[in-house]
Amino acid sequence: MRFKSGITQVQQSENSIRSRLTTLVIVAIFGSVTIVTASSVWREISQYGEIKTAELESAATVFAYAISDHVREGDKTGTLEALRAISQFPNIDYVRVSTMSGETVAELGETVTLKKTGQNFLSNTPLAALTEKTSFVSVPIVNAGETVGVVLVHSNLTSLSNKLMILVWDALVAAIFAGGIGLLIALKMQRTVTQPIHNLAKVMNTVRTTGDFGRRAERISSDETGELVESFNEMLDQIQERDAKLLAHQQNLKKIVHQRTIQFEKAKETAEAANLAKSDFLATMSHEIRTPMNGMLVMAELLNSTSLAPRQKRYADVIVKSGKSLIAIINDILDFSKIEAGRLDLEAIPVNPIEVINEVIDLFWERATSSGIDLSAYVAPNVPKSISSDPIRLNQILSNLVNNALKFTERGSITVAAKMISGPNDQAQIEFSVTDTGVGIAPQKQQHIFDAFAQADQTTTRKFGGTGLGLAICTKIVESMNGTINVKSIEGRGSKFFFNFPTDVIELPREMPQTRSETHAVIAIAGSATPKNLARYLREAGINVHIIQQGSAIAQNMAYTDIIFGSPIFLDTFNKSVQGSPDQWVPARICISELGDSAPDRLLEAGIAEDLIIKPLSRDDVLDQIERILSGSLRRRNALKDATPTAAHLPSFSGIRVLAADDSAVNREVVREALTKFDLDPIVVSNGASAVEAAQSGNIDLIFMDCSMPGMDGFEATQAIRAWETKNNCPRVPIIALTAHVPGGDQKWREAGMDAYVTKPFTMASLAEAISAQLTPGAISQPTPPALQTHVNKQSPADGELFDMAALNELSQMTSGIGDDLVVRALDLFQEHSKEAAMRVINAIKNQPPAEIKSAAHALKSMSVNVGAIALGKVCSAIEENADNQQAYLQLAKDLRTQFSATHEKLPIIKAQYSQAVA
Ligand code: ADP
Repeated sequence: MRFKSGITQVQQSENSIRSRLTTLVIVAIFGSVTIVTASSVWREISQYGEIKTAELESAATVFAYAISDHVREGDKTGTLEALRAISQFPNIDYVRVSTMSGETVAELGETVTLKKTGQNFLSNTPLAALTEKTSFVSVPIVNAGETVGVVLVHSNLTSLSNKLMILVWDALVAAIFAGGIGLLIALKMQRTVTQPIHNLAKVMNTVRTTGDFGRRAERISSDETGELVESFNEMLDQIQERDAKLLAHQQNLKKIVHQRTIQFEKAKETAEAANLAKSDFLATMSHEIRTPMNGMLVMAELLNSTSLAPRQKRYADVIVKSGKSLIAIINDILDFSKIEAGRLDLEAIPVNPIEVINEVIDLFWERATSSGIDLSAYVAPNVPKSISSDPIRLNQILSNLVNNALKFTERGSITVAAKMISGPNDQAQIEFSVTDTGVGIAPQKQQHIFDAFAQADQTTTRKFGGTGLGLAICTKIVESMNGTINVKSIEGRGSKFFFNFPTDVIELPREMPQTRSETHAVIAIAGSATPKNLARYLREAGINVHIIQQGSAIAQNMAYTDIIFGSPIFLDTFNKSVQGSPDQWVPARICISELGDSAPDRLLEAGIAEDLIIKPLSRDDVLDQIERILSGSLRRRNALKDATPTAAHLPSFSGIRVLAADDSAVNREVVREALTKFDLDPIVVSNGASAVEAAQSGNIDLIFMDCSMPGMDGFEATQAIRAWETKNNCPRVPIIALTAHVPGGDQKWREAGMDAYVTKPFTMASLAEAISAQLTPGAISQPTPPALQTHVNKQSPADGELFDMAALNELSQMTSGIGDDLVVRALDLFQEHSKEAAMRVINAIKNQPPAEIKSAAHALKSMSVNVGAIALGKVCSAIEENADNQQAYLQLAKDLRTQFSATHEKLPIIKAQYSQAVA
C-alpha cells in the first residue's frame, strides 16, 4: 500500500522534526543556564577569596598593632587580653602571636593544623576555596619600626559553600523555568513549521499516487515553509504546463503520423499500381514484340527450309539467330518483371529430373559440340525417377546456367549433374549443378553476379552479350522453390553453379543393374567429361573401369577386358589389332557415337561394334546398355534401327481439319503457312466469335486459339465452345492455345478449357509435337466433306442463325463432282454485291417512295437467301412487307445494319469451310 506508507513517512518525518526541535530547545536552554551558572560560581568564588583575604589581613593588622607593645615587653597576659578584645571578629577561629624566634606569646581559639604554614589561600586558585575548608593570614608585628613578632589569623570558609549552593539552586530553578517556557515556544513553533510541511507532504503523496497534477498545497504561512509550498505549487504549475504542451505535441504527432500513414498508404498503392502497370506494360509490350517476331522467325525458318542460294541462306540464318537472341532477351525481361511483380506461379507436377537434364543437354548439344566443348550429364543413382516440381522453370534455370557455362568456356567440358542430398523419406533435397572448365569468376564478384543486371566482367559481356538478368531470374525462381543457389569458382579453372530445393518424391529411382562377377570395362572415347561420367555409371553397376585415350595404342592387357565403350575410331583400331588372331578373346564392344555419324552403321553391319549409344549419354541409355550387356542381349544391327533419328522432314497430319484463330493478319498467314507444311489446310479466322461459330459447324478436329484477341478473346471463345459441346453432347475438340506470353505456371488456359499451349514464336517442331500430342489416332475423325456432314447434322436453321447451312449444302451437293466452288463463288459474289444492295435499301428508307423501298429490299432478300444468308433475308422480307409503314421500316433499318455486318463477318468462315472442301 503505497498510500499508507506515504502517510507513515509523513508522520515519521513530522515526529522526527518535533523531537529534534524539542531536544534542540532543551539542550539550548540547559546549556546556556549551565554556562551562566558556572561563570557566576566562578566569579563568586574569586570574589569571595579576595574579600576573605582582605578581611583577615585587616583583622590581623589590627591585632598586630593592638598587641605590638605587649609583645615587645613580653607581656603575655596583656597580649592575650588584647587578643580577646579583638577576637570577636566573625569567622575567625584561631589567632596566635609568636615572637620572631617562634615562641608563642599568646593563643586564642581551637588549635588547627595548618597544611601550609606561612601561606594564605590567596596564592591558591579560586578552586582551592572550594576544596579547602579553611584560610589563614600571617602579619608581622612592628613596634617602633622593629618587627617584634608575628600574628597568625585563621578563618573557616563554610559560608562559601552555602553561598554556592544557593547560587546553583537559583540557577537550576531559573533553568527549569526557562526550559518550560522554551518548550512551550518550541511546541508552538513546531506547529507552525511542521504543519505546512505535513500538508505539503500529503499533497505530494496524493499527486504521486494519483498522478493528478491539478492538486495544490495550501500556503498557511509566509515564512520559508510557505515559500516551500509556493515553490512546490509553481513546480506543479510547470509540470502541468509541460504536460499540456506534451499532450498537444503528442496529439499533433498523432495527427502527423496519421497523415503520413495515409500518404504512405497512398504512395504504396500508387507504387504497387505503378509496378503492376509496369509489369502489365512489359507483358503487353513483350506480347506486342513477340507477335511480329513470331511472324518473322517462323517465316525465316520456313525460308531456311527452302532451297536457297548460300548467301540468302546465310541471311536467313542471321535473321533466325538474331530473332532468337532477341526473343531470349525479351523473355528474360518479361520473366524478371513478372517475378518482380510477384507473379511467378510455380507448378507442382511430376517431373523426371533425368528428362529435364536430357532436354537441356539436347538443347545445347549442337552448340557445345560445334565449339569443341564436351557437354555431359551425370545423375546420381539416388535421384528419384519422379519428383514434384515445375519442369518449365527447372529447365529454365538449367538452360540459363548451361548457356552461361557455354558462353564462358572456350575449351574443356560442361557437366550437368543431379544428386539427392537428403531424403527420400518425407521430403527430398535435390541438388542440380552445372560445372564448367571456363574462365571462372573472381572471388569478390561471386556473390555480386546473382544481382539483377550484374555482370562479373564487362569485356565478356561485350563479347557474348547478355543482360545480367539470367542469374537474378534463376535466383528468384530457386527462392520461390524454397531453395538456394550458389557458385564455387576458381579464376582460370572454371565454375560450378549449384542449386538445391526441397521436393516431394513421387517415384523412387530406377534400380541400378549390378554385375555378379568381376567385370572390367575400358572407355576410349573423346571428351574430358563424358568418359568420366560414363565411368561413374559403370562403377555404380559394380564394373571396374579404365579410361584410355581413344587414339591410344591397344594395350596388351585388353585380354582382361570384358567390355569396350569405344568411339568408332577406337573400335576400328581395336578390330585391326585382333584381326588375324582368331583365338583372341574379344570383349563386348559398344560404339559410342554422335547423331549424324555414319561410322556406327558400318561398324555394326561389319560386327566391329555390337551395340550403340548415341551421345549425349543419358543415364537411362547407359543403364539400358549395362542391362543388355549383363543379360547378353546386345542389339547388334538392330541398334541402328532404334538409333535412327526420326526423319528430319515434318510429319504429315493430312486429313485432319484444323481451325486457327488469330487477330493478326500476319500471324494468320504464318499459322496457315506453317500448318500447310504438315499437309494441313486450316480454316483461319480473325476473332473469337468466328472461331466459336466455326467450331460449332462440327467439322473441326483441332483448334489453335490465339489467347488475346479484341472482343471475344481466346479464353472466352474456348469457354463458349466447351459450353456448346456440353450442351449438344458433342465430342470435345482439342484446343491448343497460341500465346505470345509464357504461361509457365499460369493456369488460365487450362481453366478456360484448353488442352495445351504453344508459345509464339513457335517452331515447326513445337507445332508438330503439340499436334501429335493432342491427336491420338482414334481421336482423328475420318475426313468427311464438310457439306455432307453439315447436311446430315442439320435439319432446318434455328432462329437467329445467320446462314442456312442446309441450303448451302444443297447447293454444294448439286454441284458435287464438278467441285464445290459454286458455293464459294456465290458467296464471293454476295460479298461483292450485297454491300451495294444494302446501301440501296438504306438510301430508299431515308428519302425514297415505298415502291423503291420494296424493290431494294426485295433485291437484297433474293441475293441473301440464294447464299443461305437467311437472317439478312428475313429482315429484307420484313422491310418489303412494311414499305408503307415508316415507323416499322425505320426500326427495321437498324436490324438490317446489324444483320448485314454479322452476316459479312461470318461470311469468311462459311467460305473457308467450302473452300477447304474443294481443296
Ligand atoms: P548475363 O549472362 O546475361 O550477363 P547472368 O546473370 O546470367 O547475366 O550472369 C551474370 C554474370 O555472371 C555474367 O555476365 C558473367 O560475368 C558471370 N557468369 C555467369 N556464369 C558464369 C560462368 N559459368 N563462368 C564465368 N562467369 C559467369
